[in-house]
Amino acid sequence: DSRVARIDAAIRVIPDFPKPGILFRDVTTLLLDHQAFKDSIDIFVERYKDLKIDVVAGIEARGFIFGPPVALAIGAKFVPIRKPRKLPGEVISEEYTLEYGTDCIEMHVGAIQSGERVLIVDDLIATGGTLQAAIKLIGNLENLSNLLQFLS
Ligand code: 5GP
Repeated sequence: DSRVARIDAAIRVIPDFPKPGILFRDVTTLLLDHQAFKDSIDIFVERYKDLKIDVVAGIEARGFIFGPPVALAIGAKFVPIRKPRKLPGEVISEEYTLEYGTDCIEMHVGAIQSGERVLIVDDLIATGGTLQAAIKLIGNLENLSNLLQFLS
């Protein structure tokens, strides 16, 4: 796909952020390139539009940038998966292990219904720990049968 090269070039790489030794992919520069940003959304819309997705679940924070345009275009609802103590209603939580310590993600009870097909969206997979926690969080819902796919 010739669009991928432009998307790739639009993502700035910053060494030693947020700490020494980490090569950080900064997607804010992708958002400054209208064509590359549009292409990145279009690619996912093309991939998922015919898969009967009911819910796009976006992981805080950058899943909130890429998830909603995909949700609108494929006719799905959008559910935010948030860091602890941000959601005001009743939540379910999933703790996961980081390199040092643990983190947690939360989702509103009732935001995803039994049997709905869910597409999980985030900007980047490193260890896969966050995505795995999101899959567990959503998979823990009673009778949720069709956890489908993710995009990165
Ligand atoms: P993982 O849990 O797979 O190790 O890390 C992925 C999570 O951390 C994602 O939510 C992602 O937004 C964030 N993350 C880790 N490294 C980077 C990076 O280099 N750039 C950006 N934009 N996000 C990162």
